[in-house]
Amino acid sequence: MSQDAPAGQPGCLFCRIARGEIPATALYDDALVVAFRDIAPMAPTHVLVIPKQHVTSLAHGTPEHEALFGRLMRVATDVARQEGITETGYRVVINTGADGGQSVPHLHLHVLGGRKLGWPPG
Ligand code: 5GP
Ligand code: ZN
Repeated sequence: MSQDAPAGQPGCLFCRIARGEIPATALYDDALVVAFRDIAPMAPTHVLVIPKQHVTSLAHGTPEHEALFGRLMRVATDVARQEGITETGYRVVINTGADGGQSVPHLHLHVLGGRKLGWPPG
Protein backbone atom coordinates (compact mmCIF):
# COMPACT_ATOMS: atom_id res chain seq x y z
CA MET A 1 0.00 0.00 0.00
CA SER A 2 1.39 3.40 -0.86
CA GLN A 3 2.04 5.98 1.84
CA ASP A 4 -0.88 8.14 0.75
CA ALA A 5 -3.41 5.39 0.08
CA PRO A 6 -6.98 6.44 1.03
CA ALA A 7 -7.28 3.55 3.50
CA GLY A 8 -4.47 5.16 5.48
CA GLN A 9 -1.75 3.64 7.58
CA PRO A 10 -2.84 1.05 10.14
CA GLY A 11 -0.78 2.34 13.07
CA CYS A 12 -1.12 6.07 12.38
CA LEU A 13 -2.96 7.84 15.23
CA PHE A 14 -4.83 10.31 13.02
CA CYS A 15 -5.68 7.64 10.40
CA ARG A 16 -7.22 5.73 13.29
CA ILE A 17 -9.20 8.79 14.40
CA ALA A 18 -10.32 9.33 10.77
CA ARG A 19 -11.53 5.73 10.65
CA GLY A 20 -13.38 6.13 13.96
CA GLU A 21 -11.18 3.59 15.72
CA ILE A 22 -10.12 6.13 18.34
CA PRO A 23 -12.80 8.46 19.72
CA ALA A 24 -12.56 12.19 19.13
CA THR A 25 -14.94 15.12 19.45
CA ALA A 26 -15.70 15.69 15.78
CA LEU A 27 -16.98 19.08 14.61
CA TYR A 28 -16.97 18.30 10.90
CA ASP A 29 -16.78 15.12 8.84
CA ASP A 30 -17.05 14.52 5.10
CA ALA A 31 -15.59 12.05 2.59
CA LEU A 32 -12.21 13.78 2.53
CA VAL A 33 -11.74 15.73 5.75
CA VAL A 34 -12.46 15.46 9.47
CA ALA A 35 -12.13 18.18 12.13
CA PHE A 36 -12.00 17.36 15.84
CA ARG A 37 -11.02 19.01 19.12
CA ASP A 38 -7.40 18.74 20.22
CA ILE A 39 -7.01 16.48 23.26
CA ALA A 40 -4.72 19.04 24.96
CA PRO A 41 -6.14 22.43 23.95
CA MET A 42 -3.76 25.40 23.93
CA ALA A 43 -6.60 27.94 23.54
CA PRO A 44 -10.39 28.05 24.17
CA THR A 45 -10.79 26.89 20.55
CA HIS A 46 -8.20 24.33 19.47
CA VAL A 47 -9.38 22.17 16.61
CA LEU A 48 -7.40 19.88 14.31
CA VAL A 49 -8.37 19.58 10.63
CA ILE A 50 -6.98 16.51 8.85
CA PRO A 51 -7.30 14.75 5.52
CA LYS A 52 -8.82 11.28 5.87
CA GLN A 53 -6.16 9.91 3.56
CA HIS A 54 -2.71 9.59 5.05
CA VAL A 55 -0.40 12.44 4.09
CA THR A 56 2.61 12.53 6.40
CA SER A 57 3.15 16.29 6.42
CA LEU A 58 2.78 19.47 4.38
CA ALA A 59 6.19 18.64 2.91
CA HIS A 60 4.74 15.41 1.49
CA GLY A 61 2.18 17.25 -0.62
CA THR A 62 2.20 16.78 -4.39
CA PRO A 63 0.32 18.58 -7.18
CA GLU A 64 -2.37 15.89 -6.81
CA HIS A 65 -3.06 17.18 -3.29
CA GLU A 66 -3.83 20.73 -4.42
CA ALA A 67 -7.63 20.43 -4.21
CA LEU A 68 -7.46 18.47 -0.95
CA PHE A 69 -5.23 21.09 0.67
CA GLY A 70 -7.63 23.80 -0.46
CA ARG A 71 -10.46 21.86 1.16
CA LEU A 72 -8.52 21.67 4.44
CA MET A 73 -8.16 25.45 4.47
CA ARG A 74 -11.83 25.96 3.73
CA VAL A 75 -12.88 23.57 6.51
CA ALA A 76 -10.55 25.46 8.88
CA THR A 77 -12.34 28.72 8.10
CA ASP A 78 -15.75 27.03 8.44
CA VAL A 79 -14.76 25.61 11.85
CA ALA A 80 -13.58 29.05 12.98
CA ARG A 81 -16.92 30.56 11.95
CA GLN A 82 -18.80 27.76 13.72
CA GLU A 83 -16.73 28.42 16.85
CA GLY A 84 -17.58 32.13 16.72
CA ILE A 85 -13.98 33.37 16.41
CA THR A 86 -14.03 34.81 12.91
CA GLU A 87 -14.50 38.39 14.11
CA THR A 88 -12.06 38.18 17.04
CA GLY A 89 -9.45 36.40 14.97
CA TYR A 90 -7.63 33.13 15.06
CA ARG A 91 -4.53 31.31 13.86
CA VAL A 92 -4.13 28.33 11.53
CA VAL A 93 -0.86 26.47 12.09
CA ILE A 94 0.74 23.54 10.28
CA ASN A 95 3.74 22.26 12.21
CA THR A 96 5.97 20.46 9.73
CA GLY A 97 8.82 18.11 10.55
CA ALA A 98 11.12 18.04 13.57
CA ASP A 99 12.10 21.72 13.71
CA GLY A 100 8.49 22.70 12.98
CA GLY A 101 7.40 20.87 16.12
CA GLN A 102 5.30 18.23 14.38
CA SER A 103 4.64 15.39 16.82
CA VAL A 104 2.01 13.42 14.88
CA PRO A 105 3.21 12.40 11.39
CA HIS A 106 -0.17 12.86 9.67
CA LEU A 107 -0.84 16.30 8.17
CA HIS A 108 -3.04 18.45 10.40
CA LEU A 109 -4.06 22.11 10.60
CA HIS A 110 -4.40 23.57 14.10
CA VAL A 111 -7.19 26.15 14.38
CA LEU A 112 -6.50 28.22 17.49
CA GLY A 113 -8.53 31.09 18.88
CA GLY A 114 -10.71 32.46 21.65
CA ARG A 115 -7.82 34.34 23.29
CA LYS A 116 -5.07 36.73 22.24
CA LEU A 117 -2.25 34.59 20.82
CA GLY A 118 1.40 35.49 21.26
CA TRP A 119 3.84 36.09 18.42
CA PRO A 120 6.47 35.05 17.48
CA PRO A 121 6.10 31.35 18.33
CA GLY A 122 8.80 29.80 20.49
P1 5GP B 1 1.65 18.61 16.35
O1 5GP B 1 2.50 18.69 17.58
O2 5GP B 1 2.00 17.37 15.55
O3 5GP B 1 1.62 19.84 15.52
O4 5GP B 1 0.17 18.44 16.85
C1 5GP B 1 -0.36 17.24 17.29
C2 5GP B 1 -1.56 17.57 18.14
O5 5GP B 1 -2.31 16.38 18.29
C3 5GP B 1 -1.20 18.09 19.54
O6 5GP B 1 -1.76 19.37 19.72
C4 5GP B 1 -1.84 17.03 20.45
O7 5GP B 1 -2.39 17.59 21.62
C5 5GP B 1 -2.90 16.40 19.56
N1 5GP B 1 -3.19 15.01 19.86
C6 5GP B 1 -2.29 14.02 20.11
N2 5GP B 1 -2.92 12.86 20.33
C7 5GP B 1 -4.25 13.13 20.23
C8 5GP B 1 -5.42 12.31 20.36
O8 5GP B 1 -5.38 11.10 20.62
N3 5GP B 1 -6.63 12.92 20.17
C9 5GP B 1 -6.72 14.26 19.89
N4 5GP B 1 -7.97 14.76 19.73
N5 5GP B 1 -5.64 15.05 19.75
C10 5GP B 1 -4.43 14.49 19.92
ZN1 ZN C 1 -2.22 8.79 8.96
